Amino acid sequence: MPSAILTGITGQDGSYLAEQLLNKNYVVHGLVRRTSSTQRVRLDPLFHDSEVYNKRLFLHYADLDDTTTIRRILLKTEPDELYHLAGQSHVGASFEIPETTCQFTGMGTLKLLEIVRDLAKKPRFLHISSSEIFGRPDSAPQNEETPMRPVTPYGVAKTFATNMVRLYRDSFGVFACNAICYNHESERRGESFVTRKISKAAAAISLGLQDKLKLGSLDGKRDWGYAPDYTDAMWRMLQQPTPDDYILATGTAYSIRDFLDAAFQAVKLNWQDHVEQDPKYMRPSEVTHLVGDARKAREKLDWVATTNLRELAERMVRHDRQQHADNKNSG
Ligand code: GDP
Repeated sequence: MPSAILTGITGQDGSYLAEQLLNKNYVVHGLVRRTSSTQRVRLDPLFHDSEVYNKRLFLHYADLDDTTTIRRILLKTEPDELYHLAGQSHVGASFEIPETTCQFTGMGTLKLLEIVRDLAKKPRFLHISSSEIFGRPDSAPQNEETPMRPVTPYGVAKTFATNMVRLYRDSFGVFACNAICYNHESERRGESFVTRKISKAAAAISLGLQDKLKLGSLDGKRDWGYAPDYTDAMWRMLQQPTPDDYILATGTAYSIRDFLDAAFQAVKLNWQDHVEQDPKYMRPSEVTHLVGDARKAREKLDWVATTNLRELAERMVRHDRQQHADNKNSG
């Protein structure tokens, strides 16, 4: 059986990737932070599957900066593939905690690469990079050759990590790839990201549980895809004969107003009646024109992002309405 180890297994992408790998008959190891809350709701169905948990899915405690422990786990588990998905991934928060962001998102990646470099059996290495590395690019859409010009602490940290992955590939012969992901959302998206904040609010407002939604700038545009498509592409990247970097994106950017339209229309409401702007959620600087050209992934990986914005918003709002209903029944 092939085996894989995932950092960030409790996150949105980690939970989808773990499911996909288990479906492909992998043995899956996940690194979880000692200090993280025990909230692992995204993995709940796998925990409760007695055929899976502690049979083909194993969790190990290790903080990203605890290199000794991570090395020991890698020596013991000898995985074929390593998917590095963990990190402080909230762009807004990265302005408040730039050092932590660089520590985990930047240095955390370098530390992992250093461990892999020394292993006799080196796993193939996948780093989840981000469109934030492009910042305010001169041209759109961006591809793998577009210069990196980050404008947020998170983008700066990801640029460092992305370049380190390239360096370890070129200089140390590590099979290391960057998945340069544009925003990808789902019903498992963290609740502080704008899409999920909107879907949760649209659901709550439609059920009479809330009246207002406070947001920051509505001017931004994003290339929003559906997360499980992106984790599928990550797996495809590690099955190629040679390591490389790939843009993963839908190729279409929508505004936050478009997402508001789609989410509130799903419950037959007008977002203008409920949304208020709050300076608290404004950022010191914003990326612009981020839209990805995933042609290389299409040609080499036979991959396309399929979900459109309306379907994505409807799916998220439907899920959040159901969750409110479940909470009410259990409460
Ligand atoms: P990001 O692309 O990784 O920063 O994804 P987010 O979902 O956090 O933010 C997407 C865009 O939504 C950015 O331009 C934010 O400034 C904007 N935005 C507006 N209001 C909010 C809010 O209340 N929360 C978040 N997270 N973003 C907001």
